[in-house]
Amino acid sequence: MALIVQKYGGTSVANVDRIKEVATRVKRFRDEGHELVVVLSAMSGETNRLTSLAHSIHANPDPREMDMLLTTGEQTTIALLALALKNIGCDALSFTGGQVQILTDNAHGKARILNIEGKRMREQLHRGKVVVVAGFQGVDELGNITTLGRGGSDTTAVALAAALNADECQIYTDVDGVYTTDPRIVAEARRLDRITFEEMLEMASLGSKVLQIRSVEFAGKYKVPLRVLSSFTEGEGTLITYEEESKVEQALISGIAFNRDEAKVTVRGVSDQPGIASQLLGPIGDANIEVDMIVQNVSIDGTTDLTFTIHRNDYNRVITILQEIATRMGAGDVIGDNKIVKVSLVGVGMRSHAGIASKMFRVLADEGINIRMISTSEIKISVVVDEKYLELAVRALHTAFELDEGVNLS
Ligand code: ADP
Ligand code: ASP
Ligand code: MG
Repeated sequence: MALIVQKYGGTSVANVDRIKEVATRVKRFRDEGHELVVVLSAMSGETNRLTSLAHSIHANPDPREMDMLLTTGEQTTIALLALALKNIGCDALSFTGGQVQILTDNAHGKARILNIEGKRMREQLHRGKVVVVAGFQGVDELGNITTLGRGGSDTTAVALAAALNADECQIYTDVDGVYTTDPRIVAEARRLDRITFEEMLEMASLGSKVLQIRSVEFAGKYKVPLRVLSSFTEGEGTLITYEEESKVEQALISGIAFNRDEAKVTVRGVSDQPGIASQLLGPIGDANIEVDMIVQNVSIDGTTDLTFTIHRNDYNRVITILQEIATRMGAGDVIGDNKIVKVSLVGVGMRSHAGIASKMFRVLADEGINIRMISTSEIKISVVVDEKYLELAVRALHTAFELDEGVNLS
């Protein structure tokens, strides 16, 4: 008998029929004698629908009220699943995040989990009940309802698994595991039986939204046994592992991630002296805007250009902030581009192999794709390219690095 936390995403609970199918799956595990905590998302499209309702009233809605609104999506699905479970003779109780004391900070819309009180859930599990918990939500210390950022139900599930010391956390979604790249972009993408935690962390942070990045961070911190599988089919899915595979088993590249939410800005003619980067980037950080890649050119006439990438949603705000600073500093123009994307190769095998970057650049050049920015770390190489080349770049790299289905990776 094991304690299993299962999370079902939006498409897995998209309507009453799907919810009934989830109930059948949960009951099967229960009948095998396992204890079950089930975390649910809202029905697919519901969080977007609620968001647009709020935007039809106010362009910039109050964050506290937004969280109050958005959490209703998950409250609907947990109640329906508890009803569906009872209907088939499987005793269950639904709980909001607050009811199982998922305590977060008060950063509405992107709150972090601080503590989870497992007592109430354990009591119900011992009574033989399936515990159904609303994903994506918590409460701050004043009892205000908070949300954990888009895709946050993954994090609820992993955090509950850590707090309850569960034997496994299973993330059920609409694909049957983690693939070499998004299978919706590359039909030849291949499911991975296993992926190392480090690689999964890179994939998630570089744009593969199959798991929310914070859920992977949590899993790593508490070594939660984590598996991604499909709620539509049967199968083993993908296991996230914490030990490095032996060198023989290591693929050079495990996956390709991409992120469409990118924009870049450049400040021209900045004088090349100490403190300039901080003067330009400080106010961006103060406005709570995250900066990703940063490139500074070699100065020619005592001035240089500074380019960096940001989330596309922050583009207009960043341009406004920088124009003001640039004028004050006597720097040149502020220019930008919000039609760019980031494509990244990820693999722990890179550590022991040279020449991957040059091969990547050659493959892109052969397709006539211009690279706008580059950044590397030990286990990833990222390039920024024009948005229109996204699919071509990902497909060409997927083939060139022998990730396509059916290729013998020896
Ligand atoms: P859920 O609603 O179940 O949380 P998501 O839409 O958040 O589902 O995540 C699943 C989606 O992630 C898949 O439908 C797929 O398009 C996308 N995805 C992106 N990268 C990958 C990848 N490397 N492997 C699998 N799926 C991926
Ligand atoms: N319903 C939330 C969202 O759509 C949380 C989740 O599904 O994980 O982002
Ligand atoms: Mg998701």
